[in-house]
Amino acid sequence: MTDSILVLNAGSSSLKFSVFAREADALRLRSHGQIEGLTTDSHFVAHDADGAVVAERSFSGAIGHERATGFLLDHYLDTPGTTLRAVGHRVVHGGTEYAAPVRLDAGVIHALEALIPLAPLHQPHNLAPIRVLHERVPDIPQVACFDTAFHRTQPEIAQAFALPPKIERHGVHRYGFHGLSYEFIARRLPEVDAVAARGRTVVLHLGNGASMCALVGGRSVATTMGFTALEGLPMGTRCGSLDPGVVLFMQQQLGLSVSEVEHVLYHESGLLGVSGVSSDMRSLESSDDPRAKRAIDLLVYRIGRELGSLAAAAGGLDAIVFTAGIGENSARLREAVCRQARWIGVELDPAANARQGPRISTDGSGVGVWVIPTDEERMIAQHTDDLVAT
Ligand code: ADP
Repeated sequence: MTDSILVLNAGSSSLKFSVFAREADALRLRSHGQIEGLTTDSHFVAHDADGAVVAERSFSGAIGHERATGFLLDHYLDTPGTTLRAVGHRVVHGGTEYAAPVRLDAGVIHALEALIPLAPLHQPHNLAPIRVLHERVPDIPQVACFDTAFHRTQPEIAQAFALPPKIERHGVHRYGFHGLSYEFIARRLPEVDAVAARGRTVVLHLGNGASMCALVGGRSVATTMGFTALEGLPMGTRCGSLDPGVVLFMQQQLGLSVSEVEHVLYHESGLLGVSGVSSDMRSLESSDDPRAKRAIDLLVYRIGRELGSLAAAAGGLDAIVFTAGIGENSARLREAVCRQARWIGVELDPAANARQGPRISTDGSGVGVWVIPTDEERMIAQHTDDLVAT
């Protein structure tokens, strides 16, 4: 019998999963997939580690988060030769309290429900599978891993807004997100480059959601996302940093309701909003529409500004790491970012960049530049395994 760990990442319309098997001292990815269309026509697909489809099923209508969780549980409880040992969850918000992953029980679930107002678009979906499993299989340990936790090492001042206590006391802090990705990269760095691991390194997590984080000795000291996943870089459909006066203007002068403003900021802005073409970098790069080029230029410009800001927070810059869908795959975006960062000592090796690294800077570059694939699911599986073993 092999012990397996199920990793769940529940979003608003999909439940993504991965299954890792414990083999000797390593966790090996066995399967991954998703149930998508949770609120429309639901569809389940599972792949093996090489990407081949190993199971598939369509449902008539929407099955929702609860039934989807039950379906996955039955599917993986029935897998011959394996025992489901634990379930690890991606949970967006751990507030100021959870600075590390935590084993779930009724009390912790209750505490995480209390954080819903801080992440109303994500936290309820993250918690839905946790509740189902807590009721149906209370003996299988569950672990919550937070997007915010890794940033709790930041100095207090880096986590503060210049707001009065009457606002701040409601939990209005800069929490930061994508922490599981940054933690994965921080743990990989010693295997990749000793200077980047012990020095001042800015990691660029550039996916549909995008942020940047300054690490010093592998610990987060500053990041671009703050109270929500809106701040910082422009993203696929999110605006990134904005003068808060724009929000007031949209409400007071343009007459937009709160939910209309929310929709503009989260779903109609960023690469999609600027280009009018797509939120997807591949589509923008292959488009000859000048608005697509402008959207990419704006992203590169904002990355450059944030790089300077994070280098200042870290007290200098020894290395840059590109990761996530755009960071790992777009040589063109990396080239543009590195060209703009020449002033800080970055010298790109174009041939290494074209073959996706891992090192894409020249030997003489004052700042090492790396491409390192991230793996948030593996990070969750690792934490879950560690907590269940103790
Ligand atoms: P998510 O935040 O949803 O996990 P990903 O990390 O998968 O997103 O990143 C998705 C982004 O990566 C999309 O904008 C996609 O176009 C981009 N991307 C993926 N492959 C490439 C590629 N070969 N070239 C350029 N962009 C790419």
